[in-house]
This record gives sequence, C-alpha cells and structure tokens, in this order.
Amino acid sequence: MSNANIKNITTSAVRAGINTDQHHGAVVAPIHLSSTYSLKAFNEKRQFDYSRTGNPTRATFAKTIANLEQGSVGIVTSTGMSAVHLICQLLATDDLVVIPHDCYGGSFRLFTHLAKRGQFKLIVVDQNDQSALADALAKKPKLVLLESPSNPLLRLVDIEVVSKACHEVGALVAVDNTFLSPALQQPLTLGADIVFHSTTKYINGHSDVVGGVLVTKEQALGEELAWWANCIGITGSAFDSFLALRGLKTLPIRIKQHQENAVQVAEFLKNHPAIDTVYYPGFEDHPGHDIAKKQQAGFGAMLSFDVKGGVAAVKKLFANIELFTLAQSLGGVESLINHPPTMTHAGMDEEARLAAGITDSLVRISVGLEDINDILADLAHGLAQSQQ
Ligand SMILES: *Cc1c(COP(=O)(O)O)cnc(C)c1O
Repeated sequence: MSNANIKNITTSAVRAGINTDQHHGAVVAPIHLSSTYSLKAFNEKRQFDYSRTGNPTRATFAKTIANLEQGSVGIVTSTGMSAVHLICQLLATDDLVVIPHDCYGGSFRLFTHLAKRGQFKLIVVDQNDQSALADALAKKPKLVLLESPSNPLLRLVDIEVVSKACHEVGALVAVDNTFLSPALQQPLTLGADIVFHSTTKYINGHSDVVGGVLVTKEQALGEELAWWANCIGITGSAFDSFLALRGLKTLPIRIKQHQENAVQVAEFLKNHPAIDTVYYPGFEDHPGHDIAKKQQAGFGAMLSFDVKGGVAAVKKLFANIELFTLAQSLGGVESLINHPPTMTHAGMDEEARLAAGITDSLVRISVGLEDINDILADLAHGLAQSQQ
C-alpha cells in the first residue's frame, strides 16, 4: 500500500468536534435540534438562521469530513442518494454524463431514469475497457462518475489516470468512496473534483442512520452545490449528523478490524469447494490488485463470491447461515449477507445486470466485527448446507 497522499485520519476522527462548545465547555459537540435561530436585531443575522440552510451540529460533521477527505467544502445530505442527486443539479439538458456499468444499483437507477426524462444525456461504460472509456470521453462529457471499488464486484479504476483524462476534455470527476471511506482512500488527492459517501455505511458504521455527504476540492464548486442543497432542501438532520459524527470517531479503528477479519474470510472462501470465484482486491490475481495498492491504504472489508449450484444453492446458504444477517446495506459492525440480483441491484434491468457480471449466483458480504472464529464457523456451516 503506497499512496503517499493518504493522510492518516485516526487522530482527526477521534478529536472531531471536541472542545467546540463555547458556552459550557461540553467535551462532545452538542446536538442543536432547534429549527430556527434568532436574529441579534433588525437585519443582523448570526452564523445560523434556519436549520435547512445551516445547523451547528451538521456544520461540525461537514467540516470534519471535508478535513478527512482533504477537500474544501463538505455538504451533509439526508441520504447517500440525495448526495448523488445533488451532483445532478450541475447538469443542463445538453450535458453528457458518463457512469460505470456496474455502479451502485440506486445510482444506476437515478441516472438512467433522469436521462430518460431528458434531464441530461448519458453513456454507461465499462470503465476498465480503455477504448470504450476513451470513446465516451471524446464526446466531451460534463461529468464522469467513478465508483472504486465498485459494488458488488469490487472492480477498481485508476482514479488518478481517469481523472487526468477527464480533465483533458473538461469533465468534472465525482467518486463514490462509500466502500472504503477516507480511512482507506482519499480521491480528491488523486485528482477527483468531488467525493461522496453514503454515510449509512462505514462512516456511521452502526446501521442506525441513513445519510450522505459530499466534499469538493474547490471552494467555488462546493459553494455552488451547498446553495443547491439548501435550495432543494436535502440537507441532513441535526440528529443524524450527531450520530454519524459519533460513529465516525471510531471509523479508523473499526476499518482496521473489519479488514483483518475480511482477509481471513477471503482466504477461507478462496479454497472452499462450494465456491467458484471470490472477488476480493486483496488477492494478487484480482485484476485491480495493483491499482488498489497504488491508491488505497487497505483492501477494505467488502467481498463477493459465486456459489456453485446457482440460485438454489444461494437459497440454501441463506437458510442455514445464522450469524450473518440477510439484509441490504454494509459497513456496520454486524456481518451482513446480500444477494445483489434480488436486493441491492434489483433496480437494474436483467440485461444490464448480467452485462455488469452480476450473476444469479452472486453473494456479497460485509464482514463485521464479530469474533473471526464465529464468522468462519457460520460460513463453513452455511456453505456446506448449500451443496446438499
Ligand atoms: C448505499 C450506497 C449508496 C446510497 O446511499 P443511501 O444512504 O442508501 O441513500 C450509494 N453508493 C453506494 C456505493 C452505496 O453502497
């Protein structure tokens, strides 16, 4: 792992919001639930006036994330999807957008449906296909969306190389960093203009908040997007911001343990007779392994695999696994198991899904923080039963 630009965020995460309370010296940043703020006098505003526009708790969280991502402006949104939608406010009807063919199902659904309504033009490409990507860039897009590693197949794109190519044609680059978090990847240092997250996942990390965040490299772009976030009313709530900031404090330490468990799970699955392929960037033969080593500070804790025996075997696996919870989402302390074709990627039509390599026998897991022996025993039991 050799990206020298990655800043160690452990201390900044732990210290987030500490000692910011000017009134009582509260050690932890308080929750400000008030929806509105008094003016000092006629036409004399304080820093905050109305909570959709600005809120002290949300501002602390936004500032922290902007710092961790090494950007200038952070915007906290109500969900990860509203962070993606916010970026769409930059687009006019004649603008072209390029998205990866295997991006998060919700992002795929949003871009394809807005394009169908004529809000902008869209090209969907396999961003690992150099000539397809070059052809798309030759059409001079306004925005290129990247997701690395991708969901659910953990494909990698070289953010630095692609950002450079995008900038040569005048395109803005936005990276979905949900799968890694700023603990493992900081796309703005690799040339991206915008980085965004579903904070629902690793950043909050406890599966009790749905939220999003977006950070820009440049101040002006950040201010433009913050204006839109207030205008369309998608800013995150104070309570969610408080919880996400609380979760964020342990992000670096959680990620470390998530990864330690994931390596062992990946090794266990690799040699398992019930499994065809394991998709995990930590393997030397994974096609994105070298890119991961170059741009990430770790391989993350998400992986997916094809179970032998198709959907029937997947069903048996799910019926027999106990510790893993069958649920959408990822990045929480608990281990989750998911069937992308019928769950996270159900918003994709079958043709697009199969073209993206998301087969009916694909299973995705988010490796949690339970004891590794319990995790492995549960998988061993479920997989044995899947082949009965
Ligand atoms: C979950 C997710 C989103 C959407 O976020 P929500 O908080 O569910 O709206 C976007 N991108 C990725 C990679 C995700 O996993």
